[in-house]
Amino acid sequence: NTEDIKILMLENVNQTALDIFGKQGYQVEFLKSSLPEDQLIQKIKDVHVIGIRSKTKLTANVLSHAKNLLVIGCFCIGTNQVDLEYAAKHGIAVFNSPFSNSRSVAELVIGEIISLARQLGDRSLELHQGRWNKVSSKCWEIRGKTLGIVGYGHIGSQLSVLAEAMGMAVRYYDVVPIMALGTARQVPSLEELLEQSDFVTLHVPELPETRGMIGEKQLNKMKNGSYLINASRGSVVNIPDLINAMKSGRVAGAALDVYPNEPAGNGDFFTNDLNVWAEDLRGLRNIILTPHIGGSTEEAQSAIGVEVGEAIVRYVNEGVTIGAVNMPECTLRSINLEQTNHIRVIFIHHNKPGVLRQVNSILADHNVEKQISDSRGDVAYMMADISDVLEDERKEINDGLESLGACILTRVLF
Ligand code: NAD
Repeated sequence: NTEDIKILMLENVNQTALDIFGKQGYQVEFLKSSLPEDQLIQKIKDVHVIGIRSKTKLTANVLSHAKNLLVIGCFCIGTNQVDLEYAAKHGIAVFNSPFSNSRSVAELVIGEIISLARQLGDRSLELHQGRWNKVSSKCWEIRGKTLGIVGYGHIGSQLSVLAEAMGMAVRYYDVVPIMALGTARQVPSLEELLEQSDFVTLHVPELPETRGMIGEKQLNKMKNGSYLINASRGSVVNIPDLINAMKSGRVAGAALDVYPNEPAGNGDFFTNDLNVWAEDLRGLRNIILTPHIGGSTEEAQSAIGVEVGEAIVRYVNEGVTIGAVNMPECTLRSINLEQTNHIRVIFIHHNKPGVLRQVNSILADHNVEKQISDSRGDVAYMMADISDVLEDERKEINDGLESLGACILTRVLF
């Protein structure tokens, strides 16, 4: 019954998510802040859903007190504040929102391309200090210039469309072949991209292969007087090498939104205590330094609320795990719970040989209309839609599955 679902929402999660839960009739407790561990343990005991952002730490210890928890919603991008493995092994699905802020990042990069080409940061800073410095030397229009995008995923491809609309020629490099949007063109190597581009912008994930992907060797391949933008992850660019390339003039400007070590909170200082080169970086000209704000917009926050909120509703009401970060992703096309005696069985279990044979012997006497199962590491997920199940048979199926040694969690939706 949806009215029985209890939700604890922490850290001032966006109203869009509360509206979605309200429509379902779930019972929602909303708190603006995170909670200290002892209070969190008290509150988590009987809720079915918890919604958090990055400050709430859901450790194995905290989660071990949750008796009814089905799902954790991380209303943010990162999920390292949650013990994902512990959650999976206890049948708790975790969802996040990796792509709600793609457009915000792409727009920030567009703003930076023009700002760097026109040295806006320097001019504004000078006038703030009272100094009038009207220059046109080495200031450019972006029309007709080439933008090189490294990583043509959610952000890179959005950016491609926006940049073309402003008259830029777009080239991109990606490890997989991806169909070009508009008149953009994929190039076969990073080297070629660097050699052709007036502006290079990085949109790759943080991976062992992308660590230090742009260092001295790559910067030397870039056109003289070109620009570099990094709003992906701090590990992707070797910053001391970038500092050298800017001092030599090869790189005429740069924008950085991400850093190897980032301060913990607003008001903290960005000095050499954090990164040994921080003061050198701050001393350069025509470099835009922003505090990881690529995805920080009102629109992205409300899109996160909708994306995670809807994923939670689908999971609670239908058992669909698409988008889960710690469970196999399973869905069945439709569920017709309105139809009398129609049930959906969800069986989360340890991934061991022979379990499905046991499951199917329990379901065998019924009319299984659809069934799907998948595994991820040690945890497996099985969904089945079954028709013509009477009330006492429902309980039989539930108890039969729960009695299996491999069972982590059984749910029967009707
Ligand atoms: P995505 O997964 O949609 O796209 C990444 C693309 O990079 C994929 O097409 C992939 O094939 C490609 N790729 C992977 N390894 C590569 C390699 N070695 N060389 C070339 N291409 C490679 O990701 P996205 O949503 O577009 O995000 C891109 C980056 O932006 C991520 O690092 C993400 O963490 C970061 N990000 C930053 C902010 C911010 O606030 N600054 C906000 C959101 C995302």
